[in-house]
Amino acid sequence: MSNIAIHPATIGDLDSIQDLDTQHIWHPCFHLAASGPAIPIVRGEGERLIAEDGREYLDMVSSWWVNLHGHCHPHIVGAISTQARTLDHVIFANNTHAPAARLAHKLAAFLPHTPRLFYSDNGSTSNEVAIKIAYQYWKNVGESKRTKILSFESDYHGETLGAMSVSGASVFLGPFKDLMFEINRLPFPETWEGDEEIDQKEAHVFEALEDYLMDQGDQTACVILEPLIQGAAGMRMCRPSFLKRFVERVQSEGILVIFDEVMTGFGRTGHLFACHKADVKPDLICLSKGITGGFLPLAATLCREDIFQTFIHEGYEKAFAHSHSYTANPIGCAAGLASLELFESEQTLNKIADIEAHYKRFIQDLQNTMPSTIHHRVMGGIMAFEIQTPKAEGYTSSLGPKLRQQLQDRGLLIRPLGNTLYLLPPYCVSHANLDHTFEVIKEVLKDL
Ligand SMILES: *Cc1c(COP(=O)(O)O)cnc(C)c1O
Repeated sequence: MSNIAIHPATIGDLDSIQDLDTQHIWHPCFHLAASGPAIPIVRGEGERLIAEDGREYLDMVSSWWVNLHGHCHPHIVGAISTQARTLDHVIFANNTHAPAARLAHKLAAFLPHTPRLFYSDNGSTSNEVAIKIAYQYWKNVGESKRTKILSFESDYHGETLGAMSVSGASVFLGPFKDLMFEINRLPFPETWEGDEEIDQKEAHVFEALEDYLMDQGDQTACVILEPLIQGAAGMRMCRPSFLKRFVERVQSEGILVIFDEVMTGFGRTGHLFACHKADVKPDLICLSKGITGGFLPLAATLCREDIFQTFIHEGYEKAFAHSHSYTANPIGCAAGLASLELFESEQTLNKIADIEAHYKRFIQDLQNTMPSTIHHRVMGGIMAFEIQTPKAEGYTSSLGPKLRQQLQDRGLLIRPLGNTLYLLPPYCVSHANLDHTFEVIKEVLKDL
């Protein structure tokens, strides 16, 4: 190196990762100055994360629901490394490349009803794209009065302003309420093992839907929803039969249905996509999170071919004028292809079925031995339940962080959502590590 000072604070051996982090970094969802410093993670391997001090954590939330096959899976590492040496990135307007074309082709084979794919780079933007396509579609076909959007209470679609507007999880909206556009919402018929009121709950939603359709059905552009599982709202689940009836009823009124499969995609529900499990054909589908196996930011919005065709026109005014710098990043697409190959070579859907069976035994155990746990539910690679505490309301809000800390102290990376505790591990998780996790959870719950 020359003797030119590149940066006033050159990183030296004496600066720990943690010190530098504390000085400079603004972490997501950080609110308490008194909360401990971030844990420096130096390595990932399968379902394990290894910290700088040598401690190991089991990543039971797949690092915010993105990881599928385990950290640093060699097959994806290899694909990324080869791609990075071949083509790093290229502007995607008027250019294309093999990883983008092949990944689109593979995804369309799984989702033949929506063969046309628009790339972006995160879950929020995949939803922005879907909403904008659905909205503009009606202008393109000359039905400009279709401008309304329908969704469910507590749905979550991301952090950009449009995605926030269609999200109903009010805790995230806070100071931005005045910037949001208005949409309509129906109650979500959440259910769990042994729920005796589910038929009434669903009937109530269908009544509300009929009222809505009568009133505003012909002015509605689209419905956007999290299929089968509302993730951020606390892994709230509905029945596949409900979703099927709902989607088909809405589509019978000509309304476009957008499935936000950002979380549910790539096996989380036990099927490759939630629309497979519910046996429906949404008009648009949003994918991100697991799309690269959890390695790189990438997203895709898939849509019906005839929707795409309405954007093709002599003039530019019907075009979809939307782009992102890293659209269809080749390295991300290569990771996506490698991840889909693993679904075949490692029989990933069988692994998920096995995890699901394991969960069911644990839940039975909880029902028998831990009466403070309620509303147990399982779907594919996800298990959740609520914790009831004898203490008053205000306590509940602090339960999540407290539990998280106690689980972390015992080597588990789990982030309860309020009083909902859930597991969503990488599909490579071993029986031994699942059983260990169950034991630690029971131990922590007993001490509450
Ligand atoms: C996480 C999530 C998003 C937002 O994705 P980001 O990549 O965080 O922008 C959108 N929808 C659902 C259902 C999600 O779970």
